[in-house]
Amino acid sequence: MKSNFLRISLVALLALLISCSRDEVHVEDPVNNAIRNSEMELSNRYAGRKSSSECNFEYEGGEGPENWANLCGEAWMDCSGNSQSPINIVTNKVVEDDYINNININYSTSKVDIYNNGHTVQFNYTSGSSADLNNIEYDLLQFHFHTESEHTINGYRYPMEAHLVHRDPNTGLLAVVGVFFEEGDANKILKKYFNNFPEFEGTHYTDRSRFHIEDLLPEDLDFYTYPGSLTTPGCSEIVTWYVLKEPITASVSQIRKLKDIMHKNYRPVQELNGRVIRSQDD
Ligand SMILES: [Zn+2]
Repeated sequence: MKSNFLRISLVALLALLISCSRDEVHVEDPVNNAIRNSEMELSNRYAGRKSSSECNFEYEGGEGPENWANLCGEAWMDCSGNSQSPINIVTNKVVEDDYINNININYSTSKVDIYNNGHTVQFNYTSGSSADLNNIEYDLLQFHFHTESEHTINGYRYPMEAHLVHRDPNTGLLAVVGVFFEEGDANKILKKYFNNFPEFEGTHYTDRSRFHIEDLLPEDLDFYTYPGSLTTPGCSEIVTWYVLKEPITASVSQIRKLKDIMHKNYRPVQELNGRVIRSQDD
């Protein structure tokens, strides 16, 4: 009896030791993780290209959006493609489509892991959260911000837009959920990390707290959807966009703080070139 107990204890202890060391092996380097999940690297990975991080782009001047396609050899040529993002959404030209499914989210909490890549403030999302978007299950990888908004509605530009970047693990294709902000009550996530946003390029913040992406979503998940691209180089045309109709709010000081860190980081709207924007309502 006694030796049985001893044996079971030993086995339990051994199992615990193995699981601990396994955990250690799986600890990910947060900076590497953030870079791996940046739009540029997702684009390179999809195209089977090497990193193009030695190329630089800006939002103004000689390295501004008009010249992105010419700044990195073939790697950024898609920036002059025919299915680019963002776009202006003209609501009376949108096609109502009753056959698109609702967004079905399967999100859980994430560790905090914020990275400034020189163009945006990116929150890397802990793996295990996903969303079902038109019958495809996509993993949520990260979200980041643009000031002012990139998409416009009937020419109206919101002060800020968040992009929730999802990836289909089978094809590498992306689905990005766009969320508009208007000025109003403080946003819960931004409030929690207000003093921790990494202010300089290449800087990073992490602690032991957790948060939930739900605090970045409006109550109503009705959306506009269209085929488009990443809005930063390489501008790969591998994105199905889901632009939510209902904006959420952030306080004036929250929006100002992100704008002070990121400056103007929205790409001008691109030509539709015959693409159809569809609308989903409950
Ligand atoms: Zn973006």
